[in-house]
Amino acid sequence: MNDATRLPGAVACATLPHMTAYTFYTGAVADRAALHRADENWLERARNNPTARFAPLWRNRSLLRNDASADANTTAVLWTPDQAAPFLSATFADPMFLGLHADGSAAFAIDLSHLDETAAADIAGDGVFLDLWEAGPTLRDQDAALLAYARGLAFWHRRHRFCGRCGNPSLPAHGGHLRRCTNPDCAAEHFPRTDPAVIMLVEGLVDGRPACLLGRQARWAQGMYSTLAGFVEPGESLEEAVGREVLEETGVGVSNATYMGSQPWPFPASIMLGFRAQTNDVALNVNYDELEDARWFTRDDLRSMGEKGFSLPRRHTIAYRLIAEWLAETDQTDT
Ligand SMILES: [Zn+2]
Repeated sequence: MNDATRLPGAVACATLPHMTAYTFYTGAVADRAALHRADENWLERARNNPTARFAPLWRNRSLLRNDASADANTTAVLWTPDQAAPFLSATFADPMFLGLHADGSAAFAIDLSHLDETAAADIAGDGVFLDLWEAGPTLRDQDAALLAYARGLAFWHRRHRFCGRCGNPSLPAHGGHLRRCTNPDCAAEHFPRTDPAVIMLVEGLVDGRPACLLGRQARWAQGMYSTLAGFVEPGESLEEAVGREVLEETGVGVSNATYMGSQPWPFPASIMLGFRAQTNDVALNVNYDELEDARWFTRDDLRSMGEKGFSLPRRHTIAYRLIAEWLAETDQTDT
């Protein structure tokens, strides 16, 4: 499947919530099997079933190996129960239960971040621990989704080892989907967090021609422009966050915001919520503390970006999808 076929319209996205596999980093497991997470006996049987597989993680990096024969460049290294056994008792967290694949096999992740660099290299075998943020697009869809899920859950555990209420250590439970405070007087339960971020394509008319507003940050690859984005704040609707972020970053006020779809982005802990927004005032007042630049791009500008030294975000991102969908629509209505 190439990227172009992964670009359904917003209607399909909104009305077919199960048809989200086209979005990279979704579709990790067929069933998260949440109802089994509290059943230790069930989890133990699942861990010991020969069909179970374990995704090792080390300090935000996933274990990958080159796979020249595959349709992707890289394959996730997944351990059998026998391969995983030596590490299960040594980790500070039990293996995290990710869910069940369609064939019934269970997926787990093991965080080996306590190992030093030499030990991590030793256990990597013919693989190598790489950051999915960089390597993800070289993997098959399901490998990438599974490892992204594992990365996000493992990151949460490492950053929440102490109770946020009383400060005592907390311990994982429910297959890694809960941490419970060890102080019996507190016993607070803490659940994995995902930070919502809005990401939006703003459209307007520049000299009578449809254009979309893209910006860039100084740390990005030279010439790359993307949709604006930012975190949702407490007490704020998603639509309000869209309006605030666009105004803060570019001085442009948007008149409405329409939800277009989402993408998990556990790098380290976000979900990107995609929007399309409109404005009647295209005058820019760029906030250079937030952005290096922002500008309007017509469809012709987007098509000739490469010739002018510009580029778009990577194709597996929702940012790219928002731009590609807009470009396809203007093709239909504006030519
Ligand atoms: Zn506590």
